[in-house]
Amino acid sequence: MKIQFLGGAGTVTGSKTVLQVKDVRILVDCGLFVGSKDLRSRNWAEPEVDPSSFTAVALTHAHLDHSGYLPVLVRRGFRGPVYCTPGTRDLCQVLLMECARLMAEDAAYLNEHEKSRHRPALPLFSEAEALAAIDLLRPVPFGQTVEIQAGLTLRFTRAGHLLGSACLHLETPRTRLIFSGDVGRLSDPVWRPPEPLGEADILVLESTCGAYTHPEGDPERQFGETLRRVVGRGGVVLVPASAIGRSQMLLHFLARLRYRGEVPDVPVFLDSPVVVDVAHLYGAHSDDHRLSRSACQNMGRVPHHVSRLDQSRTLSGNRFPMVVFAGGGMLSGGRILHHVKAFGPDDRNAIVLAGYQAPGTRGEALLNGARSLQIHGEDVPIRAEVVPLAGLSAHADCQDLVQWLESLDRPPRHVFVNHGERENSEALRDHLVSRFGWNCTVAHHQGLVTLDETQAWPTPGLSRT
Ligand SMILES: [Zn+2]
Repeated sequence: MKIQFLGGAGTVTGSKTVLQVKDVRILVDCGLFVGSKDLRSRNWAEPEVDPSSFTAVALTHAHLDHSGYLPVLVRRGFRGPVYCTPGTRDLCQVLLMECARLMAEDAAYLNEHEKSRHRPALPLFSEAEALAAIDLLRPVPFGQTVEIQAGLTLRFTRAGHLLGSACLHLETPRTRLIFSGDVGRLSDPVWRPPEPLGEADILVLESTCGAYTHPEGDPERQFGETLRRVVGRGGVVLVPASAIGRSQMLLHFLARLRYRGEVPDVPVFLDSPVVVDVAHLYGAHSDDHRLSRSACQNMGRVPHHVSRLDQSRTLSGNRFPMVVFAGGGMLSGGRILHHVKAFGPDDRNAIVLAGYQAPGTRGEALLNGARSLQIHGEDVPIRAEVVPLAGLSAHADCQDLVQWLESLDRPPRHVFVNHGERENSEALRDHLVSRFGWNCTVAHHQGLVTLDETQAWPTPGLSRT
């Protein structure tokens, strides 16, 4: 048995881990790299492993840093099934299409305005390629076991990080492996907590927030205060977010704040080329979250959908108080960049950062106090207030992870810590070693582990290929 880390190791994006059992090859997650130019260039590079050699792909959840490379994998020859939960299937249909359309809009804008060093600027994948990837999704309900090939089964348990998000359990007759995917918090206002883990010989564990403790915070109150303050001075609130995900939590807050009369009734726009029936989607996956049917309906009624590009550009020209949600999250591209160009230089406005901002992204730069951003080759001064919403992380912190890992029925034989910046992964490894005394290794990019299932395992080493 071999495990190789081709993404999401030493970084939080581009999640891709290969499990090989004899001649069966499973790709666990198929994510896009986001952030620095060096990381993003990996999305365009020749794949390290021939995509047509994978028996199957299994997705832990729909965030693009776990699913967004799928259309490229398919273009490059992958034809097998993509196992995921029904919720992940539904979200992938939205997020992959949104990503394809935003990239097409970005490329068209750059070409039209001759802003790109690449001539012509091209999207990483097309809408047709996104649809081809969506066609391969094979939903597997939580708890149901599927045999991928004789002697190798797959099962999902709830991870509490996003609608449909799951931990992936893969089993051979001798070995139980768990890939945690992104793990949610034990007490999240929207998501139900991650399920107990059961048994694992090998655990591949995320460490995005593995080194720290989340600050206490009441993001709903903070969002309400931000809105009152910004609207009070005649400003606009921008929220970089995809059509589905963190935006729904904030829309849920907005519905409640409005109901209690705590925020001014200004227009709210959800600017995305893909329109989602949120109430229906959340209603169809009600086991994943804590929201009532009426809360889902109320949340769905808050925003006006802006799907056409010309309508989106018109939004950027408005000068009245409003709230605009637009992708991409972390300001990595998409329509939000046009809104930041229009509203960022005005100190009456605010940019609300909800959730994790990966290193190297404009979102992280803002978080670190940047007062100007490079957008479409221009320096855009940022005088708008930058508001990181505390307590809104969808990732378990160190305490959450430790408490959740106590649900294992027995100690794992080995833990590979991945999906984190190196300092976070190392800190979590050290913590697990001192807390539980487990064998833990930090995964690194392209690291390869060989495990002999028939022997008592030595501590596996990681070798570079
Ligand atoms: Zn995620």
